[in-house]
Amino acid sequence: MIPYSRQDIDDADIEAVADVLRSDLVTQGSVVPAFERAIADYCGAVHAVAVNSGTSALHLACLALGVGPGDRVWTSPNTFVASANCALYCGAQVDFVDIDPRTYNLSVEALADKLARAERAGALPKVVIPVHFAGQPCDLEGIHALGRRYGFSIIEDASHAIGASYQGAAVGSGRYSALTVFSFHPVKLVTTAEGGMVVTNDEGLARRVQLLRSHGIARDPSQFARPPDGPWYYEQVDLGFNYRLSDVHAALGLSQLRRLDAFVIARRDLAARYDTLLSELPVVRPTEMADRRSARHLYAIRLAPGRVDRTQRQVFESLRAAQIGVQVHYIPVYYQPYYERLGFRRGCCPEAERYYHLAMSLPLYPGLRLAQQDTVVSALAKAVS
Ligand SMILES: *Cc1c(COP(=O)(O)O)cnc(C)c1O
Repeated sequence: MIPYSRQDIDDADIEAVADVLRSDLVTQGSVVPAFERAIADYCGAVHAVAVNSGTSALHLACLALGVGPGDRVWTSPNTFVASANCALYCGAQVDFVDIDPRTYNLSVEALADKLARAERAGALPKVVIPVHFAGQPCDLEGIHALGRRYGFSIIEDASHAIGASYQGAAVGSGRYSALTVFSFHPVKLVTTAEGGMVVTNDEGLARRVQLLRSHGIARDPSQFARPPDGPWYYEQVDLGFNYRLSDVHAALGLSQLRRLDAFVIARRDLAARYDTLLSELPVVRPTEMADRRSARHLYAIRLAPGRVDRTQRQVFESLRAAQIGVQVHYIPVYYQPYYERLGFRRGCCPEAERYYHLAMSLPLYPGLRLAQQDTVVSALAKAVS
């Protein structure tokens, strides 16, 4: 099976991990801070705080902004469930903003409409979480302008988009958001096996995330409520979690980061090759907006409406039967039974639904060979004919 994505781990990565395994500290050592520094520098941001998953990163980003019961958080329906679940973890209400049918990202027009209605109803969101779908940054400037007008903060879910840029600046630089979140799951751009990162330029937010990642325990006397009992003293000043990343995982991430630019170039070259190879097929290819450079995490196509006689399911099954590991990104989050129980109904985001029922992600990762890509394209050509 040719998977839709997979990690690319080389001998240098393995050596870096082995070095940590041979060292004294396999967690809470110096590699996590080195990884954090390297990510912050890569993004052109001031602070980066490593955690054990992208989901933990989203949860702590919400908590750092003070999201709690009674608050509203809005995100895109065309995402992995974690982008919405993070708000529910905090006891907040979640809602969805429909997507732009060109980029499949949260639509600024739909957001503006929904905000105007929410303002009249006195139900404005505290936080909006745009998701840089497939590695293409959202229209952050537009979302940010609405944030200033309506008073919400922005968390970028950049799980797909480390290595991407917007208006010439790296995703994570934080020009238009309070915090940016990355995931290092093996299907993503760089991996730590499991892991995530919160990036911000705000010192206070970074401190909050650091505190909550490790039980809410402060070790810096400036954060203590009482004078220390002795040199062993620490204080739990809030209810936090154990969301720490280990040094073993950080070593893998730090080593992988050296190849991030090469990974993105390889993905972009393969995507451009798909663009050419698929030009005669009845499929809609992904579009890249002029002011953005996608990291090409996914190559998501749509079957061209009215031009394919087979159903999405038939095409999918025919590709799977040909050992092509296609996937569908994403089932609108509110289609999930858990979200239906919260009261969400089909029809709430028509563009996301239309897209979902025709979408398919083709294999795309740095180690995909050209001959394998040709196999994918001929299997697709057969499947849609
Ligand atoms: C992968 C992913 C996450 C969650 O990341 P994990 O590291 O798997 O917890 C969140 N949002 C999006 C858009 C993702 O693709």
